[in-house]
Amino acid sequence: MTKRIVAYSRLKPTHLDQLRQRFHVDYFEALKNTDDPGFREALGRAHGIVGSSLAITPELLDQAPHLEAIASISVGYDNYPVEALTQRGILLCNTPDVLTETTADTGFLLIMTTARRAVELAEFVKRGEWRESIGEAQFGSDVHGKTLGMIGFGRIGAAVARRGALGFGMQVLYSNASPKPDLERELGATRCEMDDLLARADFVCVTVPLSAETTHLIGAREFGLMKPSAIFVNIARGKVVDETALIAALETGGIRAAGLDVFEREPLSPESPLPHMSNVVALPHIGSATHETRDAMAQRAVDNILLALEGKRPISLVNEAAWRERS
Ligand code: NAP
Repeated sequence: MTKRIVAYSRLKPTHLDQLRQRFHVDYFEALKNTDDPGFREALGRAHGIVGSSLAITPELLDQAPHLEAIASISVGYDNYPVEALTQRGILLCNTPDVLTETTADTGFLLIMTTARRAVELAEFVKRGEWRESIGEAQFGSDVHGKTLGMIGFGRIGAAVARRGALGFGMQVLYSNASPKPDLERELGATRCEMDDLLARADFVCVTVPLSAETTHLIGAREFGLMKPSAIFVNIARGKVVDETALIAALETGGIRAAGLDVFEREPLSPESPLPHMSNVVALPHIGSATHETRDAMAQRAVDNILLALEGKRPISLVNEAAWRERS
């Protein structure tokens, strides 16, 4: 029997062809939400899912009695009910590693553009306001030699810190669930309590995954601990930060600036004050969005689903317990 899969993110013909050689594929290009009747019907027959950016709920799983595996085209898996999947024996696969460096580049891009006010000043030139040598009103702050505080010190956190420590001579502080002695040796990084990090860092960069534990991890209290000169960068997930508290901290001078790739609600509403603030660089969730990396992520998802539906261990598996149960 040819297995069936549902694919719902934009995939290149080369990736779709690989899937179609092995499976019957119901392809929903740029599906907006999971209420789509055609999607629901296809889900009822599907053995696998390939996609990203849509929340898969336990209620949806109830409508997918044949589902064996999901290959998300993302490293973050906050859109999936991991426990419910594991209970049902459904494998959840993600795409770590292949996007680490690109997402770290985005983090450093935000550190640089906020510190040197690059977007704000490029707009100043574009508006024709550069009529004489710039003065203090346009000065930014240095990045090199400053203290970088990483909240989350996994793959992406370490890659951002590596850029800071080795490229810009920054002192690295980190707060993370577990200690990282190898990275401490490699980068001269120091583990500390989050409150201590917040009080000492010139740049605070968040790279923890979104979970019940990390929802609103950074709120009014945490912004209150930061230096008024601190720059805050979020490349993790919007809900890790209490956005109302962030806006207040930016408006009242509690912190100097913010570089944001992710928001509590995406796409960000044009009504949000954030993109209109001169001390904010707001990007449309471009962390991994390069041609090379998005291709590599799609390929990893294709490889994962091919292996999973053949009964082999996928390359990147989130719920090991479901695999152990199966084998
Ligand atoms: P990772 O390697 O799993 O790193 C996450 C780190 O966070 C781990 O070191 C983990 O500690 C730590 N951590 C988890 N929960 C924590 C908590 N409650 N308190 C303190 N530390 C905690 O993941 P990654 O590949 O670096 O990706 C991180 C996240 O970045 C993803 O989950 C995703 O949401 C986000 N992301 C965003 C974009 C974007 O487009 N902006 C792109 C890719 C990823 P342990 O090491 O002890 O487990």
